[in-house]
Amino acid sequence: MLAAGALAPGFLWSEQLAVAPPPAHAAPRAPAAPAWEAPDPAPLPPVAADEYRCEVPDVEIEKAAACDRGAPYPYCHHQLPEPWKVERSYTVWRNTSPEHRTARLALVNLALATAAEYSRIYPGEVLAIGDLDAPGPRHETHDEGVDMDLYLPSAMAVENLRLGEYGENYADLTPLQRRMRQGRVETLARILATCTNGRLRIFYNDEEVEARFLAWYRARGFEESELGPPMRAHNDLHRFHFHVTIPQDSPDGPDLASAGTAPRQPRPPARNR
Ligand SMILES: [Zn+2]
Repeated sequence: MLAAGALAPGFLWSEQLAVAPPPAHAAPRAPAAPAWEAPDPAPLPPVAADEYRCEVPDVEIEKAAACDRGAPYPYCHHQLPEPWKVERSYTVWRNTSPEHRTARLALVNLALATAAEYSRIYPGEVLAIGDLDAPGPRHETHDEGVDMDLYLPSAMAVENLRLGEYGENYADLTPLQRRMRQGRVETLARILATCTNGRLRIFYNDEEVEARFLAWYRARGFEESELGPPMRAHNDLHRFHFHVTIPQDSPDGPDLASAGTAPRQPRPPARNR
Protein backbone atom coordinates (compact mmCIF):
# COMPACT_ATOMS: atom_id res chain seq x y z
CA MET A 1 0.00 0.00 0.00
CA LEU A 2 1.11 3.53 -0.65
CA ALA A 3 1.43 5.80 2.33
CA ALA A 4 -1.20 8.52 2.63
CA GLY A 5 -0.25 11.49 0.50
CA ALA A 6 2.12 9.55 -1.70
CA LEU A 7 1.60 9.60 -5.42
CA ALA A 8 1.46 6.41 -7.33
CA PRO A 9 4.00 6.14 -10.11
CA GLY A 10 2.67 7.67 -13.26
CA PHE A 11 0.36 9.99 -11.38
CA LEU A 12 2.84 12.75 -10.79
CA TRP A 13 0.97 15.24 -12.94
CA SER A 14 -1.93 15.33 -10.53
CA GLU A 15 -3.36 18.54 -12.00
CA GLN A 16 -4.21 16.63 -15.12
CA LEU A 17 -6.53 14.42 -13.17
CA ALA A 18 -8.72 17.38 -12.26
CA VAL A 19 -9.46 18.17 -15.89
CA ALA A 20 -12.85 16.79 -16.83
CA PRO A 21 -12.96 14.68 -19.97
CA PRO A 22 -14.86 16.24 -22.88
CA PRO A 23 -18.55 15.31 -23.17
CA ALA A 24 -19.10 12.25 -25.26
CA HIS A 25 -21.11 14.16 -27.87
CA ALA A 26 -18.48 16.86 -28.43
CA ALA A 27 -16.71 16.63 -31.74
CA PRO A 28 -12.97 16.11 -31.27
CA ARG A 29 -11.16 19.33 -31.77
CA ALA A 30 -8.08 19.38 -33.90
CA PRO A 31 -5.21 21.10 -32.13
CA ALA A 32 -4.52 24.55 -33.45
CA ALA A 33 -1.84 24.37 -36.09
CA PRO A 34 1.23 26.33 -35.03
CA ALA A 35 2.38 29.05 -37.36
CA TRP A 36 4.96 27.46 -39.62
CA GLU A 37 8.49 28.64 -39.21
CA ALA A 38 11.55 27.45 -40.99
CA PRO A 39 13.38 25.38 -38.39
CA ASP A 40 16.84 26.44 -37.42
CA PRO A 41 19.38 23.92 -38.60
CA ALA A 42 20.17 21.69 -35.66
CA PRO A 43 23.58 22.34 -34.15
CA LEU A 44 26.07 19.59 -34.57
CA PRO A 45 26.39 17.73 -31.28
CA PRO A 46 29.44 18.54 -29.16
CA VAL A 47 32.07 15.89 -29.43
CA ALA A 48 35.06 15.00 -27.36
CA ALA A 49 38.29 16.64 -28.35
CA ASP A 50 39.97 13.34 -29.06
CA GLU A 51 37.50 12.67 -31.85
CA TYR A 52 39.62 15.07 -33.83
CA ARG A 53 43.18 13.94 -34.29
CA CYS A 54 46.03 16.40 -34.19
CA GLU A 55 48.80 14.38 -35.72
CA VAL A 56 51.59 16.06 -37.62
CA PRO A 57 52.51 13.83 -40.57
CA ASP A 58 55.92 12.24 -40.46
CA VAL A 59 57.63 14.57 -42.91
CA GLU A 60 60.78 16.62 -42.91
CA ILE A 61 60.07 20.30 -42.34
CA GLU A 62 62.86 22.43 -43.74
CA LYS A 63 64.06 25.30 -41.62
CA ALA A 64 66.25 28.32 -42.10
CA ALA A 65 69.89 27.92 -41.12
CA ALA A 66 69.42 30.64 -38.52
CA CYS A 67 67.29 28.25 -36.45
CA ASP A 68 70.36 26.24 -35.48
CA ARG A 69 71.97 29.42 -34.18
CA GLY A 70 69.01 30.05 -31.92
CA ALA A 71 67.87 33.08 -33.89
CA PRO A 72 64.33 34.40 -33.33
CA TYR A 73 61.58 34.70 -35.89
CA PRO A 74 61.66 35.66 -38.75
CA TYR A 75 65.33 34.73 -39.12
CA CYS A 76 64.39 31.27 -37.95
CA HIS A 77 61.41 30.14 -40.00
CA HIS A 78 60.05 26.85 -41.29
CA GLN A 79 58.77 25.80 -44.69
CA LEU A 80 55.40 24.14 -45.23
CA PRO A 81 56.25 20.90 -47.08
CA GLU A 82 54.91 20.54 -50.60
CA PRO A 83 51.60 18.67 -50.91
CA TRP A 84 53.13 15.62 -52.55
CA LYS A 85 55.25 15.06 -49.44
CA VAL A 86 52.14 14.73 -47.25
CA GLU A 87 49.98 12.47 -49.42
CA ARG A 88 48.35 15.50 -51.02
CA SER A 89 46.32 16.16 -47.89
CA TYR A 90 46.16 19.77 -48.97
CA THR A 91 46.44 21.82 -52.13
CA VAL A 92 48.12 25.15 -52.62
CA TRP A 93 45.62 27.95 -53.00
CA ARG A 94 45.88 29.30 -56.50
CA ASN A 95 49.34 30.73 -57.12
CA THR A 96 50.53 31.07 -53.53
CA SER A 97 54.31 30.93 -53.84
CA PRO A 98 56.59 28.72 -51.71
CA GLU A 99 58.16 31.73 -50.00
CA HIS A 100 54.70 32.70 -48.78
CA ARG A 101 54.30 29.30 -47.16
CA THR A 102 56.81 29.83 -44.39
CA ALA A 103 56.06 30.57 -40.75
CA ARG A 104 56.85 29.57 -37.20
CA LEU A 105 57.07 25.83 -36.68
CA ALA A 106 53.90 25.84 -34.59
CA LEU A 107 51.87 27.22 -37.48
CA VAL A 108 53.40 24.88 -40.05
CA ASN A 109 52.62 21.92 -37.81
CA LEU A 110 49.08 23.18 -37.23
CA ALA A 111 48.52 23.49 -40.97
CA LEU A 112 49.80 19.97 -41.62
CA ALA A 113 47.84 18.35 -38.80
CA THR A 114 44.66 20.18 -39.75
CA ALA A 115 44.96 19.25 -43.42
CA ALA A 116 45.58 15.60 -42.56
CA GLU A 117 42.59 15.43 -40.25
CA TYR A 118 40.23 17.20 -42.62
CA SER A 119 41.10 14.86 -45.49
CA ARG A 120 40.70 11.88 -43.15
CA ILE A 121 37.19 12.99 -42.16
CA TYR A 122 36.17 13.91 -45.71
CA PRO A 123 37.98 11.47 -48.00
CA GLY A 124 38.60 12.96 -51.38
CA GLU A 125 38.26 16.53 -50.13
CA VAL A 126 41.19 18.67 -49.15
CA LEU A 127 41.67 22.14 -47.84
CA ALA A 128 43.66 24.66 -49.77
CA ILE A 129 46.40 26.50 -47.94
CA GLY A 130 47.19 30.04 -49.02
CA ASP A 131 49.48 32.59 -47.47
CA LEU A 132 51.27 31.86 -44.26
CA ASP A 133 53.78 34.66 -43.95
CA ALA A 134 53.54 37.00 -46.89
CA PRO A 135 54.62 40.44 -45.77
CA GLY A 136 53.87 43.16 -48.24
CA PRO A 137 51.07 45.35 -49.48
CA ARG A 138 48.48 42.56 -49.68
CA HIS A 139 48.30 42.06 -45.92
CA GLU A 140 48.35 44.07 -42.75
CA THR A 141 49.41 40.92 -40.89
CA HIS A 142 50.96 37.67 -42.15
CA ASP A 143 54.37 38.86 -40.99
CA GLU A 144 54.83 37.29 -37.54
CA GLY A 145 54.66 33.63 -38.50
CA VAL A 146 51.29 33.16 -36.80
CA ASP A 147 48.74 33.90 -39.55
CA MET A 148 47.49 31.69 -42.36
CA ASP A 149 44.68 31.71 -44.88
CA LEU A 150 42.74 28.47 -45.35
CA TYR A 151 40.22 27.78 -48.09
CA LEU A 152 37.71 24.96 -48.50
CA PRO A 153 37.09 24.54 -52.21
CA SER A 154 34.30 22.04 -51.46
CA ALA A 155 32.49 24.22 -48.95
CA MET A 156 33.45 27.86 -49.14
CA ALA A 157 33.48 28.30 -52.89
CA VAL A 158 32.13 31.57 -54.09
CA GLU A 159 31.56 33.03 -57.46
CA ASN A 160 34.15 35.62 -58.23
CA LEU A 161 31.90 38.20 -59.78
CA ARG A 162 34.65 40.55 -60.73
CA LEU A 163 37.93 41.59 -59.25
CA GLY A 164 37.55 42.12 -55.54
CA GLU A 165 33.84 41.40 -55.51
CA TYR A 166 32.37 38.13 -54.31
CA GLY A 167 28.89 36.67 -54.31
CA GLU A 168 27.26 34.96 -51.38
CA ASN A 169 28.60 31.54 -50.51
CA TYR A 170 25.31 29.70 -50.61
CA ALA A 171 22.91 31.83 -52.59
CA ASP A 172 21.73 29.10 -54.95
CA LEU A 173 21.78 26.15 -52.57
CA THR A 174 18.93 24.34 -50.89
CA PRO A 175 18.87 24.55 -47.08
CA LEU A 176 20.26 21.01 -46.84
CA GLN A 177 23.09 21.72 -49.26
CA ARG A 178 23.85 24.89 -47.34
CA ARG A 179 23.87 23.06 -44.04
CA MET A 180 26.21 20.38 -45.36
CA ARG A 181 28.69 22.96 -46.56
CA GLN A 182 28.50 24.87 -43.32
CA GLY A 183 29.11 21.60 -41.50
CA ARG A 184 32.40 21.21 -43.33
CA VAL A 185 33.39 24.74 -42.40
CA GLU A 186 32.51 24.03 -38.78
CA THR A 187 34.52 20.83 -38.83
CA LEU A 188 37.55 22.73 -40.05
CA ALA A 189 37.12 25.26 -37.25
CA ARG A 190 36.76 22.47 -34.68
CA ILE A 191 39.91 20.74 -35.85
CA LEU A 192 41.82 23.99 -35.60
CA ALA A 193 40.43 24.70 -32.13
CA THR A 194 41.20 21.20 -30.94
CA CYS A 195 44.76 21.36 -32.25
CA THR A 196 45.40 24.72 -30.58
CA ASN A 197 43.65 23.88 -27.33
CA GLY A 198 41.25 26.70 -28.12
CA ARG A 199 43.99 29.29 -28.44
CA LEU A 200 43.24 30.72 -31.85
CA ARG A 201 41.27 33.35 -33.68
CA ILE A 202 39.47 32.73 -36.95
CA PHE A 203 38.15 35.54 -39.09
CA TYR A 204 35.16 34.23 -41.04
CA ASN A 205 31.92 35.87 -41.99
CA ASP A 206 29.00 33.51 -41.43
CA GLU A 207 26.81 34.27 -38.44
CA GLU A 208 25.31 30.79 -38.37
CA VAL A 209 28.65 29.03 -38.48
CA GLU A 210 30.02 31.42 -35.90
CA ALA A 211 27.14 30.85 -33.45
CA ARG A 212 27.33 27.08 -33.70
CA PHE A 213 31.11 27.00 -33.48
CA LEU A 214 31.16 29.26 -30.42
CA ALA A 215 28.54 27.06 -28.73
CA TRP A 216 30.66 23.98 -29.40
CA TYR A 217 33.81 25.81 -28.25
CA ARG A 218 32.20 26.72 -24.92
CA ALA A 219 30.72 23.25 -24.48
CA ARG A 220 34.20 21.85 -24.92
CA GLY A 221 35.43 24.01 -22.07
CA PHE A 222 37.95 26.00 -24.08
CA GLU A 223 38.87 29.43 -22.89
CA GLU A 224 39.55 32.39 -25.10
CA SER A 225 43.17 33.28 -25.61
CA GLU A 226 44.55 36.79 -25.58
CA LEU A 227 43.42 36.94 -29.21
CA GLY A 228 39.81 37.30 -28.11
CA PRO A 229 36.79 35.40 -29.47
CA PRO A 230 37.90 32.31 -31.39
CA MET A 231 35.73 33.21 -34.38
CA ARG A 232 34.42 36.52 -35.56
CA ALA A 233 33.47 38.35 -38.70
CA HIS A 234 35.93 40.62 -40.43
CA ASN A 235 36.00 42.30 -43.80
CA ASP A 236 34.16 40.93 -46.82
CA LEU A 237 37.07 38.84 -48.01
CA HIS A 238 36.49 36.48 -45.12
CA ARG A 239 33.34 35.08 -46.63
CA PHE A 240 35.43 32.68 -48.61
CA HIS A 241 38.35 31.78 -46.42
CA PHE A 242 39.53 31.46 -42.85
CA HIS A 243 42.18 33.85 -41.65
CA VAL A 244 43.64 31.89 -38.73
CA THR A 245 45.88 33.43 -36.07
CA ILE A 246 47.58 31.65 -33.19
CA PRO A 247 49.50 33.16 -30.28
CA GLN A 248 53.23 33.60 -30.76
CA ASP A 249 53.94 31.32 -27.80
CA SER A 250 51.97 28.40 -29.25
CA PRO A 251 53.76 25.08 -28.73
CA ASP A 252 55.50 23.66 -31.75
CA GLY A 253 53.96 20.24 -31.48
CA PRO A 254 53.65 17.44 -32.29
CA ASP A 255 51.36 17.53 -29.26
CA LEU A 256 49.85 20.77 -30.45
CA ALA A 257 46.93 20.66 -28.09
CA SER A 258 49.08 20.75 -24.95
CA ALA A 259 49.18 24.53 -25.07
CA GLY A 260 48.42 26.89 -22.27
CA THR A 261 51.15 29.24 -21.24
CA ALA A 262 50.61 32.58 -19.60
CA PRO A 263 48.58 34.95 -21.76
CA ARG A 264 50.32 37.91 -23.28
CA GLN A 265 49.07 41.42 -23.43
CA PRO A 266 46.78 41.85 -26.42
CA ARG A 267 48.12 43.80 -29.32
CA PRO A 268 46.10 46.66 -30.80
CA PRO A 269 43.92 45.44 -33.67
CA ALA A 270 45.31 45.89 -37.14
CA ARG A 271 43.34 47.54 -39.90
CA ASN A 272 43.27 44.74 -42.43
CA ARG A 273 44.17 41.10 -42.42
ZN1 LIG B 1 44.76 36.39 -43.98
